[in-house]
Amino acid sequence: MNTGDRTTPRFETLAIHGGGRGKAPANALNYPVFLTSTFEFDSVEHADATFGFETEDYVYTRGNNPTLRLFEERMAILEGGAASVAFASGMAAISSVLLSLLKPGDEVIAHRMLYGSTRNLIANILPRYGVRSKLVDLTQTSGLAHHINERTKVVYFETPSNPSLEIIDIAALCEIARAAGAKVVVDNTLATPVFQRPLAQGADVVVHSATKYISGHGDVVAGVAVAADADYAHELKFGYMCEFGGVMSPFTAWLLLRGLKTLALRMREHERNALAVAQYLEGHPSVKRVYYPGLSSFPGHERAKAQMRGFGGMVSFEPDGALEESKKVVNSMKLFKIAVSLGDCESLVECPFAMTHRGYEACEIAAAGLTPSLIRLSVGLEHKDDIIADIEQALATL
Ligand code: PLP
Repeated sequence: MNTGDRTTPRFETLAIHGGGRGKAPANALNYPVFLTSTFEFDSVEHADATFGFETEDYVYTRGNNPTLRLFEERMAILEGGAASVAFASGMAAISSVLLSLLKPGDEVIAHRMLYGSTRNLIANILPRYGVRSKLVDLTQTSGLAHHINERTKVVYFETPSNPSLEIIDIAALCEIARAAGAKVVVDNTLATPVFQRPLAQGADVVVHSATKYISGHGDVVAGVAVAADADYAHELKFGYMCEFGGVMSPFTAWLLLRGLKTLALRMREHERNALAVAQYLEGHPSVKRVYYPGLSSFPGHERAKAQMRGFGGMVSFEPDGALEESKKVVNSMKLFKIAVSLGDCESLVECPFAMTHRGYEACEIAAAGLTPSLIRLSVGLEHKDDIIADIEQALATL
């Protein structure tokens, strides 16, 4: 579909038709997967023009490929960005974006609660390359205002954050960052563009683990970065992704294009089930605390209502007792599978501070107002009564 007019079709329509240049080869309804590593030129002059970006033709799949390009165009449209870059994983997207924006002597300020590998990258790996990192509480706008300075070049956060689902005020932080000359990078994995579009609120780059809701079926590992600025996206693609080599496979791009078609449908259903689970847990006598942005009792609820169009499919909670009790609950679950990752059709459960977030010290967990007994649920698309019945029987073991 020609998307010359990007504003008219709605999200659901663009998720199915957005991007591309007219009909697919052989009039295929589904755009084909181009399993080719390289592309033929008519002449050296043709190659020269293509290397110089004077044509839209392809050179080599590490740089570009028609299936990848369609996925990148569709993601840019859905996030409201100028262009996007597909990566082999969410971490490939995050590391390439950070390395593209930072150099020795610079500083990155990030929220104190992040996906474990992102935190390791920011807190431990970037400093080895001369980049200073500060992990602070960005749920308070004053946290950024206090720490930002002329060396700060990137402000990085997830909202909702993983696994505590804290909500960070995107527009307010973007304003502070812009005034200081820093770029804002938002991990939008949990909300997806169905529920939140950070670029419209002032962010410079959105990153995703496309492994999660964008795929939706737990069958790929993938990442994408969407930029507000087309020149930056070009530099990220050809100056970093291409040179570091973390390219997405065309087959993965094809699976993600399939996932995108049902993204809005799935997100609404994930949310419906998650809200029912959160409300159930909130009323349960053996549950100390429930984390879900859709609950009016949740500290970030008002901010979430203001900047999101939905609250997502992730719910965390702390049962009565310590880590041993949490393990008992998790080990008793049957429908929920004990697994890392999230956003699949299947409901998944984990203990983040023993699994995905095990790099956090006890004092950091406490400083974030959490306990190691936190349980994270990725609420799936099974029937909500079956999901709740599984939680009920697991909590009954306490
Ligand atoms: N960002 C968030 C919020 C995540 O939960 C994850 C993975 O769990 C990542 C980034 C990393 O993505 P990937 O596993 O695709 O590299």
